[in-house]
Amino acid sequence: MSEPLVARMREFGTTVFAEMTALAVRTSSINLGQGFPDTDGPPAMLERAVAAIRDGLNQYPPGPGVPELRQAVAEHRKQHYGLDYDPDGEILVTVGATEALAASVLALCEPGDEVIVFEPYYDSYAAAISLAGAVRRPVTLRPVDGRFTFDPAELRAAVGPRTRAILVNSPHNPTGTVFTYDELAAIAAVVQEHDLVAVTDEVYEHLTYDGVEHIPLATLPGMRERTVMISSAGKTFSVTGWKTGWICAPRALVTAAQTVKQFLTFTSGAPWQLAVAHALREELPWVGGLRDELAGKRDRLMAGLTAAGFAVYRPAGTYFVQTDIRPLGFTDGLELARRLPELAGVVAIPTQVFYDRRELGRHFVRFAFCKKDEIIDEAVARLARLHG
Ligand SMILES: *Cc1c(COP(=O)(O)O)cnc(C)c1O
Repeated sequence: MSEPLVARMREFGTTVFAEMTALAVRTSSINLGQGFPDTDGPPAMLERAVAAIRDGLNQYPPGPGVPELRQAVAEHRKQHYGLDYDPDGEILVTVGATEALAASVLALCEPGDEVIVFEPYYDSYAAAISLAGAVRRPVTLRPVDGRFTFDPAELRAAVGPRTRAILVNSPHNPTGTVFTYDELAAIAAVVQEHDLVAVTDEVYEHLTYDGVEHIPLATLPGMRERTVMISSAGKTFSVTGWKTGWICAPRALVTAAQTVKQFLTFTSGAPWQLAVAHALREELPWVGGLRDELAGKRDRLMAGLTAAGFAVYRPAGTYFVQTDIRPLGFTDGLELARRLPELAGVVAIPTQVFYDRRELGRHFVRFAFCKKDEIIDEAVARLARLHG
């Protein structure tokens, strides 16, 4: 049989996460590759899901999502960001942020349309754009004074007559950058001048540190009407396995995304949706505690990586620390990531896989700190071997 996979998906064979996780298992290494927490979310939220199952809420929920969750999302948007979204028609519950992103891109892009992405980017963006037959136009985030940012001129230069949308991820995985108001204003100006749609991935909206505030792009003047705002319970409430996310957007954009979504999955996860509705209303103090804990873990891992000889970028949000491996005498992060189990018994992710132009990210390696303190300490002790 000839290659069964369509050409546009062939570049997305095995992900680096699968490779690195298999490597971690084979070598019994500590896995600081994939970004999922190793502790549970708020107990009362977990109980809600169990109770929902016991209470027989086990059939298809409505296509847009259970009303309690849409209502809770609307209240949360209003309280946190001052944004008004109508739970009937402007909010759509999805199978995680991943489906929200895919449905949005598939709904918005004709084949040949272009989508601007900031590289390094979350890996599902590239696949969603390819599935739509669209073309990605990368704008590179580069370190300036210890934090990754973009050059507004490069952003402007990336826009062309076929540009349809821009994907904006802040707080940003994998660099840890939280876009400032000025950075968001530069994006907003380009979006409005060229009549684009902004699709914002805000899954780390609550996980920011050092008093840095997450600002949704939709709160900038003129942006609510052209922004598809995407969130997820996975990172906020430490339930990445629940795959419960949502879109907030003007009616026409939600209808577009829902038109696609209804034939991807139609709906999902009634018990989780009810539990997340509870969590959005009652568990934000718990999330505040999580944020403080994660800030401490970040500091712990940063100190250890610095001591081991890496150049370390301080993330203002997310689960990840970005490092430059050149001070250790290495140049290729993929090569180092493949050797790291043998050298130090630790697995990490070579950031270059998140770039279109891999050479721009060759010397970066990403470490996750959403792990128990003793795991981080053991990883740090092992990484100290790199020095000797
Ligand atoms: C984890 C993650 C996602 C996926 O979210 P799900 O709700 O699990 O689908 C999307 N974007 C970024 C940047 C992430 O880190």
